[in-house]
Amino acid sequence: MPTIAITGSASGIGAATAEELRRSGSGIIGVDLRDAEVIADLSTPQGREQAVEGVLSRCDGALDGFVACAGLGPQVDDPGLIAGVNYFGTVALLDGLFPALRKGKDPAAVVVSSVASTHVTWDENPLAPLVQSGDEPEVDAVDAAVAAAGEYRGQYAYAASKNALTVAVRRRVPEWGAAGVRVNTVAPGSVETPLLRAGEADPRYGQAIREFVAPIPRHGRPEEVASLIAYLMSPRAGFVHGAQFVIDGGVDALLRPGRF
Ligand code: NAD
Repeated sequence: MPTIAITGSASGIGAATAEELRRSGSGIIGVDLRDAEVIADLSTPQGREQAVEGVLSRCDGALDGFVACAGLGPQVDDPGLIAGVNYFGTVALLDGLFPALRKGKDPAAVVVSSVASTHVTWDENPLAPLVQSGDEPEVDAVDAAVAAAGEYRGQYAYAASKNALTVAVRRRVPEWGAAGVRVNTVAPGSVETPLLRAGEADPRYGQAIREFVAPIPRHGRPEEVASLIAYLMSPRAGFVHGAQFVIDGGVDALLRPGRF
């Protein structure tokens, strides 16, 4: 039975992915703030270490898969926390679990980024200079980097954190490929989860989220993202490596038909 670790397994896309992979016969090690096999806070260096140690102790050092779903949305009014969970928390687990993935069977990882990763470019990403060293910057530095966005700094930090995350995954592609570990990202648009509902309830973002109509005129369902992730995790996707899969009901093609 393949053993797969999933962060953010208690809710939304992570919970749907855990359910789908369990149904198809995998053993799941969930990592979350609550209701998970490993309880850990990915916003802190200590919590990230606990998460890695908790997973390694439950898989005897050999892991067949890793899905990184844990994340915070744009409505969270703390850019440092958004960057801490979405970028630093995810990258710490990717790197911390890589040695165990190398020992797994047909190992693969999927990182949940966002279609927002395309809303800034790496060249203009305000977090790019702050993440280059690999060390987490002071919270004040992250605040200052996104301050120009004013009350929309959460959205700016969110897009920047997801852009940096997709870049971080792509930069690992040569080493991971040579080690036989596939890694890809998925980039969802609006998906019906507690995170989206919190955005809809936010006075700054709610109206835009509620009124925007995608070419497929509804929000995605967590199970739809989970089935894409399950495919990418399976040996059927054996030659798929280093790619980002948009799953957004056609929004990216609508807004940027000439850029892909
Ligand atoms: P969700 O809020 O339902 O689930 C997120 C999970 O992450 C929760 O279980 C939460 O407890 C966990 N988490 C948050 N902070 C954590 C921390 N510090 N330590 C450990 N776990 C933590 O949200 P979701 O919509 O399922 O989001 C899953 C991923 O999908 C996120 O990375 C999000 O950015 C991304 N995403 C979601 C949407 C959407 O519309 N729902 C769109 C694009 C991308």
